Amino acid sequence: MKIERIEAEGYENVVMGIDPDSGLRAIIAVHDTTLGPALGGLRMWNYKTDEEAITDVLRLSRGMTYKSACANTGLGGGKAVIIGDQNRDKSEQLFRAMGRFVETLGGSYITAEDVGIGIQELEWLHKETKYVTGLSRQSGSSGNPSPFTARGCIRGLFACTEEKFGTSHLDRLHYSVQGLGQVGGEVVRCLSMLGARVTVSDINQDRCVEFSALPGVEVAHGDEIYDVDADVFMPCALGGILNDDTIPRLKVKVVAGAANNQLLTESHAAMIHDHDILYAPDFIINAGGIINVSVEVRPEGYDERTAVTKIENIYNGLREVFETSRRENLTPAEAAYQVAENRLEEARQVNGHSVADSTS
Ligand code: NAD
Repeated sequence: MKIERIEAEGYENVVMGIDPDSGLRAIIAVHDTTLGPALGGLRMWNYKTDEEAITDVLRLSRGMTYKSACANTGLGGGKAVIIGDQNRDKSEQLFRAMGRFVETLGGSYITAEDVGIGIQELEWLHKETKYVTGLSRQSGSSGNPSPFTARGCIRGLFACTEEKFGTSHLDRLHYSVQGLGQVGGEVVRCLSMLGARVTVSDINQDRCVEFSALPGVEVAHGDEIYDVDADVFMPCALGGILNDDTIPRLKVKVVAGAANNQLLTESHAAMIHDHDILYAPDFIINAGGIINVSVEVRPEGYDERTAVTKIENIYNGLREVFETSRRENLTPAEAAYQVAENRLEEARQVNGHSVADSTS
């Protein structure tokens, strides 16, 4: 396998692995290991160019550093991408080559599931490297992260509703939820069980029909989810859905959901703030999954009770962000970055090297 280093300012190590025998073309980005080994999922995507793949892996790995810093996982940020068609190019040979590529980094990068990757592919990787998380529960691993992500979102809702409405009675509010997948579905079940009113949408009509049978749940059609006169909007489907078109349509007072990269651009954090809507930064409220996986990486191994206790702390993490936001007159997104940067800087001081050292 040929391994080439890619120069990227502010990143500790970015490498491209090319293995002609298996057809592997992949990039691993280790953004920052100040707080621990860089953990982040492996994505398989049909990128049109290498540049597109590099842009994606850089953006995603940096996001993982901030997510883990805020969640106190004891991990750094990294990510990996395989350039290829997930419906056509998957093979054991390809993923074993990827496993050998991960192994060359000696544990500074630990991989997990992301878009286009399932447990089968992780099992293939695992034949070549031990730096894989999120395998089956039966194998002693932490399993599917989604229920833990959903749990973290519900916990985070308490911080949001206390901040905006002065209440922790989740059942007294009306929620609009976009996306009834693994996370959104679980969130809706929980809210319905609590007795809350929930309006849902999904492009999959079968999911809508299934969930409309739950107490308190009604269905909005397609994009109408943005217009629902609810208290809290929970995006649990796609990224980029908070943008110039959607923000002016929102009637809610809080946006708090699991989807990654909800803001189309950083400037939309200010826009949503100006509309007097409290935004729970996605990488804080959706950290339940990464927290669960981080428990697996400890020397003691995985333990669900430890994971759940840490996930409960998402509440405190959000409270800290909202307090910083109020005190420093920042948007919650800016405050979250500040919390993460402060934590990284403190660790750099303790580790005895400065920011300049670590980004050079
Ligand atoms: P999923 O694929 O199980 O569910 C996504 C759902 O959204 C599907 O039911 C899909 O039909 C629906 N959907 C897609 N486009 C839609 C649209 N335009 N309108 C309404 N519904 C639409 O995914 P998931 O695992 O539930 O993850 C949901 C989001 O949360 C993603 O953005 C993911 O990146 C993020 N996230 C997930 C986890 C996790 O542990 N699964 C962790 C962190 C972040």
